[in-house]
Amino acid sequence: MDLTFSAEDEAFRAEARTWLADNLTGEFAELKGLGGSGREHEAYDARIAWNRHLAASGWTCLGWPREHGGRGLSLFQQVIFHEEYARADAPARVNHLGEELLGPTLIAHGTPAQQERFLPGIVAVTELWCQGYSEPGAGSDLASVRTRARLDGDRWVIDGEKVWTSLAHHADWCFAVVGTEPGSQRHPGLSYLLVPMRQEGVTVRPILQLTGTSEFNEVFFDGAVTDADLVVGAPGDGWRVAMATLGFERGVSTIGQQVGFERELAAVEELARHNGTIDDPGIADRLAQAAVGLEVMRLHALRTLSAYEAGSQGSEASVSKLLWARWHRDLGELAMDVAGTGGLTVAAPPYVIDRLQSLFLFSRADTIYGGSDEVQRTIISERVLGLPKEPRG
Ligand SMILES: Cc1cc2nc3c(=O)[nH]c(=O)nc-3n(C[C@H](O)[C@H](O)[C@H](O)COP(=O)(O)OP(=O)(O)OC[C@H]3O[C@@H](n4cnc5c(N)ncnc54)[C@H](O)[C@@H]3O)c2cc1C
Repeated sequence: MDLTFSAEDEAFRAEARTWLADNLTGEFAELKGLGGSGREHEAYDARIAWNRHLAASGWTCLGWPREHGGRGLSLFQQVIFHEEYARADAPARVNHLGEELLGPTLIAHGTPAQQERFLPGIVAVTELWCQGYSEPGAGSDLASVRTRARLDGDRWVIDGEKVWTSLAHHADWCFAVVGTEPGSQRHPGLSYLLVPMRQEGVTVRPILQLTGTSEFNEVFFDGAVTDADLVVGAPGDGWRVAMATLGFERGVSTIGQQVGFERELAAVEELARHNGTIDDPGIADRLAQAAVGLEVMRLHALRTLSAYEAGSQGSEASVSKLLWARWHRDLGELAMDVAGTGGLTVAAPPYVIDRLQSLFLFSRADTIYGGSDEVQRTIISERVLGLPKEPRG
């Protein structure tokens, strides 16, 4: 296992750092620190402009093969970019779902025509995507989705309901798991469709979150349509494709986030110094544990990368997800304990909350999305530890 970066990697780090310093200037400098979980509404249009600026200089889709518009960079270099991006306090990117989830899925399972049609829009940040998996009654148990699509001539007609669909209100397209095979149930009947969001048959209804913002949505398909050839993989083979996307979701895309976490921990520590709670041995102990946890996560992330580079398709990502989600949720709780009674009041009426309150409230979701803690533990117990399989209905 190699836990160090090569000279070539460090040269790439210097290149990324310099580019970010030279370009996060002028109007873009005002975007520093904006966006992210619970705060996606911040300067959204300006962040799109920044993302297109990144794209124009070749700083999107870094790990994609060159023939698909990427830069073919190694996993280590992708992580380095994410680290430098967070270190520069660059604004949260708007294109995560297209770049990290759908793009790699299309590269692995899409037809050449689908790749040609959709990948350039993801690279250039001109088409935004959302993920239509979850439904009321189908979250962890994704195979029980009830949204249906039937072929009508040269197009699919879709009826059903999705929920928790992040950023659907900004999305041009949705990659959706739907049932297509008449008479079949669960996995064998599912297909992976690419559905245009801006059409009459699609209604997006934002859900108000604890943070006071609305990042995810209910999405209703009432006779929505998409072209017959916009199914990824064969009809009825959508489960395999959907699982590939989940692998990308739990994989490299979350590995570079430690630097952002470091920044949040520093803010909690600064508040503790400012209000004197750092003198409380309990708080000091938890701050120290958080710092140790961060280092453990970083080393685990590097170990995971080494395993990936060595060809593992493995379940290391589930361990990562479990580690970071719990660490981040605990940090939110620590932030509120450090804030004390100040954490109970809003910064401005009617409901403007500060960064640490937002961290506390949004991080409750970390142990749920991308596969809940319980689901990750099942994966680890079955695939890593080889324990007996969970009974499945
Ligand atoms: C912030 C956020 C953003 C999201 N964005 C999207 C998105 O863009 N697109 C999308 O499709 N979905 C999205 N989701 C939905 C997310 O994927 C689901 O919330 C998640 O899969 C859990 O499903 P559920 O909410 O239906 O809970 P359930 O599956 O009903 O689970 C409820 C509880 O039961 C536990 N549980 C369930 N099954 C088992 C089991 N077999 N063994 C042990 N415990 C179990 C779970 O761990 C959980 O604690 C998002 C969720 C959040 C919080």
